[in-house]
Amino acid sequence: MQVINPATEEEIAELTVDTAESVHLKLARLRNGQQKWSSRSIAERLEIIVGFGELVKQHKEELAQVLTKETGKPITQSRGEVTGSLNRIEHLKTHADKWLQPELMAEGAVKESIVYEPLGVIANIGAWNFPYNTGYNVFLYALVAGNSVLYKPSEYASLTGLKFKELLHKAGVPEDVFETAIGPGQVGQYLLEADLDGYFFTGSYKTGVHIARSIAHKLVPVQLELGGKDPLYVMDDVADVNQAAINAADGAFYNNGQSCCAVERIYVQESIYDDFVRHFVDEVKNYIPGDPTNDATYTGPLTRSQQLQVILEQIKDATAKGAEVLIGGNQPDRKGYYLNPTVLVDVNHTMELMKEESFGPVIGIQKVASDEEALRLMQDTPYGLTAAVFSSDEQRARKILDQMNVGTVYWNCCDRVSPNTTWSGRKNSGLGSTLSYQGIRTFTQPKSYQMKGK
Ligand code: NDP
Repeated sequence: MQVINPATEEEIAELTVDTAESVHLKLARLRNGQQKWSSRSIAERLEIIVGFGELVKQHKEELAQVLTKETGKPITQSRGEVTGSLNRIEHLKTHADKWLQPELMAEGAVKESIVYEPLGVIANIGAWNFPYNTGYNVFLYALVAGNSVLYKPSEYASLTGLKFKELLHKAGVPEDVFETAIGPGQVGQYLLEADLDGYFFTGSYKTGVHIARSIAHKLVPVQLELGGKDPLYVMDDVADVNQAAINAADGAFYNNGQSCCAVERIYVQESIYDDFVRHFVDEVKNYIPGDPTNDATYTGPLTRSQQLQVILEQIKDATAKGAEVLIGGNQPDRKGYYLNPTVLVDVNHTMELMKEESFGPVIGIQKVASDEEALRLMQDTPYGLTAAVFSSDEQRARKILDQMNVGTVYWNCCDRVSPNTTWSGRKNSGLGSTLSYQGIRTFTQPKSYQMKGK
């Protein structure tokens, strides 16, 4: 399999793709390894993961460079993604023991307790947009809980997956406890057909539904972290319209908009609308596409050439229905999968741009007359990942946020993920939750002990 650098369109590596047979061999080894791994104490497993964190720190630059070359992510953002693993490890250090230890529930004639056993061998199928992140949000927690992991990185981010494997093994995770499956979607398909004890997937709604359907008969846990069409509403009482516009633009264009929780549509109250749009476009003018290996670059290429077409189609559909492009809308004159950051106004919900995930550097800004209208539009989506409100009035913002059927809400911030709180989607954005204490317990199955002395 060829690995292409999306900034230069040059081949940077060739990898051997797993076959159905190699996947089955790896799984057999992982099954053996898991028995020994789970018999070690939580403290021992945690110590190894903490050691992995130390290696990540030592190899930070190398890890970031691999990510940038393989996905086109600007290097400063790649460094941020690498170090994101450290706050997960810090969280595990503080909380894993508490949530994994057996719990005594009642002490009477019958002593009743719950033991949290690992699931066994789990599949971790990741996306390319935050490949380290969608990997470590699963495998760090799964390993500490005593599982072994077969990690399938996206074919557009396999080098990052192999780099993490190398460091995990170096830190002391046995080779028969963490393995990778390398290759395209077909290799993921082998995992679905194999005998695994849980499926933890990050990716699109379409593949997520396919996975849930394919493995339904196994009755093992399936967790799906899927896409979104995340709205941001800017109220007329924001303290500083310029700052609100800068923050909103970052929420929409960070990582070229290729984030599951990127701001995908913006609603602005009519009294500040013109002001907001002017500041927003002024900010986006600074996002000049450049070489992602350069520290000064904020906007790199898209990772996948196919996505360019999807976004250009959305722009075409919107303009045909009356939208106006204020900036961008075309490709810069350079090699690579680049698209100029694009801002559209006069948009509405008849347009694909406001309804379907764009997953790229494009945003529509719609004028609204009231909080009620904003809420109605924000709710008009099959997705349910995040929703944000910018306002100086927390109560007014809460009135909207409390009514959103989403996994995460933001007040005066957006496009962020924290290890302290659960990360989950509702409706077409997914099922189950990673991070926080739930993200620790999710890799376990409870067993009740009801013990009578005599
Ligand atoms: P895809 O659904 O295309 O792919 C996700 C993973 O599934 C990849 O590793 C892919 O392999 C693999 N895959 C493809 N076909 C199969 C199959 N038949 N069986 C098993 N595995 C398969 O998603 P993308 O990689 O394009 O990711 C982008 C999507 O992910 C966006 O919708 C984004 O919003 C979402 N996402 C959600 C996050 C969240 O936390 N909610 C976080 C990050 C992204 P391959 O790539 O090799 O084809």
